[in-house]
Amino acid sequence: MKLLILDRDGVINEDSDAYIKALDEWIPIPSSIAAIARLSQAGWTVAVATNQSGIARGYYDLATLESMHARLRQLVAEQGGEIGLIVHCPHGPDDGCECRKPKAGMLEQIAAHYATDLKGIWFVGDSSGDLQAALAVDCQPVLVKTGKGERTLAKPLPPGTLVFDDLAAVADRLLS
Ligand SMILES: [Mg+2]
Ligand SMILES: [Zn+2]
Repeated sequence: MKLLILDRDGVINEDSDAYIKALDEWIPIPSSIAAIARLSQAGWTVAVATNQSGIARGYYDLATLESMHARLRQLVAEQGGEIGLIVHCPHGPDDGCECRKPKAGMLEQIAAHYATDLKGIWFVGDSSGDLQAALAVDCQPVLVKTGKGERTLAKPLPPGTLVFDDLAAVADRLLS
């Protein structure tokens, strides 16, 4: 299957160092929504793996997170596309879970859901933790410069990391 996995904040929507705590703080990147729709229309399954420690921190609840994801699904649907599985880690950095990136638990959940192998699957993120999670399960690490991407680019990257301006550029490559 043609599977693409995305980080959420900084890739699909604007990132915020103050957390995205309410639906009206979830600001989509229009070209990313369009990119997901284009990929979907071309037969790609687009899944999402997102750290949401703001839940553990009590900044927002699961219902609020789900309202953001319903909005995301709606925006992509309005452009004739579809988003696949969205998995989130609700834990904090000290909870010792297996899902919080840089661990790869969410990527494994996605692979299990689709009964597919992760090797070579592109995982697109804007943080070092995304790239490390990708590497841990043999995904292709892909960095975009949106969100924290420019900051991440200033640090050492895992070998073989591909770098694009944004998700639209990733889609252009995959669809070319
Ligand atoms: Mg991010
Ligand atoms: Zn977790």
